[in-house]
Amino acid sequence: MWDLLLRGGRVVDPASGRDETADVAVRAGRIAEVAAGLPRDRAAQEADVRGKLVLPGLVDAHTHVLHSSTYWGVDPEPIAWRTGVTTWIDAGSAGAYGLDGLRRFVAEPAPFSVRSLINVSGIGLVGRTGEHHVLENLDVDAAAAVAARHGDLVCGVKARMDSQTVGVHGLEPLRRAAALAKRLDKPLMVHIGYGPPHLADIAPFLTEGDIVTHCATGVAADLVVDGRPTDTLARLRDSGVLLDLGHGSGAFDFDVLEAELAAGIVPIISTDLHIRSVYGPAFDLPIVMGKAMAAGMSLTDTVAAVTHRPAGAFGLPAGTLRPGAAADIAVFEAREGRFPVVDVHGGSRQAPLRLTNTATYAGGRLLTPRAAEPPPVWVPLSAAQHRAEEQRHEQVRSAVRYLDRPEDFDEHFPRPAAEDRP
Ligand SMILES: [Zn+2]
Repeated sequence: MWDLLLRGGRVVDPASGRDETADVAVRAGRIAEVAAGLPRDRAAQEADVRGKLVLPGLVDAHTHVLHSSTYWGVDPEPIAWRTGVTTWIDAGSAGAYGLDGLRRFVAEPAPFSVRSLINVSGIGLVGRTGEHHVLENLDVDAAAAVAARHGDLVCGVKARMDSQTVGVHGLEPLRRAAALAKRLDKPLMVHIGYGPPHLADIAPFLTEGDIVTHCATGVAADLVVDGRPTDTLARLRDSGVLLDLGHGSGAFDFDVLEAELAAGIVPIISTDLHIRSVYGPAFDLPIVMGKAMAAGMSLTDTVAAVTHRPAGAFGLPAGTLRPGAAADIAVFEAREGRFPVVDVHGGSRQAPLRLTNTATYAGGRLLTPRAAEPPPVWVPLSAAQHRAEEQRHEQVRSAVRYLDRPEDFDEHFPRPAAEDRP
């Protein structure tokens, strides 16, 4: 007997080369079978997803989810259920001093997967910037010992390399971050921005499997020049270094991404979702996926860039609907058309597809609506952002009301048929 049968959707799972109309059966939190015409009477519960896209639960490789205790943190629970993101990789919000908090207060209570790239700086992203100013906090031995204690939580190392963050210390924080990554035998994700250090200074520290995030930022001068990747960027690509979009609040320029795509450099797609990007301009991963498609990426490439590619980059068992995999599933309504989307420098394009998440399952369980807390006082919202947030709250409240009569639960969480009851 299956616990759940998603019936008749368009299943797109680049990891298994699948793009076809099929049913997805779930048993004991795992994908049991994917095929057309699976027998309905073998399922305790079914959902009609005809006309919808059925994707592996999305993997967002660059987020900041250590909320309520850092400058940047957002609570992922009010976002996951409406976006299909079932694996949240926190990119350096916690260093050695905060990793236990990330585990206890975010990762463990979450009904989905939360992983961490440990910040080489012990203080992580408690503040807006400057975490490398006091080198004492960049204690590689301490970070390695803490990471070892949280083995499966930590899937990589993070270091922000821009002039404000490193202060007078130049490349020393990067040297320590690379040493930490080597000790842990995990990838290093380096954030680039306003240098120095510049990409050419950073590149020698990166090896195959490492990641450069904010790869389509309009502010790092040495990614793309005259519409072509620089020699530095081409060398990084050739040495197997991965590029990550990391949209964030200031790190996305259509011209840069399009130049990279034209040169055959296809990044993984992530939001860099934090308290300054979640109210726009990034909003959420499905919206950023729309931007990637607006820049010319196909649906399949875009899905790969938010599922098995980031999962593979960090060695995570996620991002596929292969039988045996965790039943992390994201169902979307996909509207074709021309939908305006923007970068952070005033650039605008038309997305050919708008993805609206209609159901998100983590380990086979439907995530239920959760409303977000109001933003912290240090995040100024415009009047339009306030209005949009109020509207969203109202929508969540009405969704929850919709689920508070017993018959609503029958519809959303069907009970076993009479003959199956004891
Ligand atoms: Zn970030």
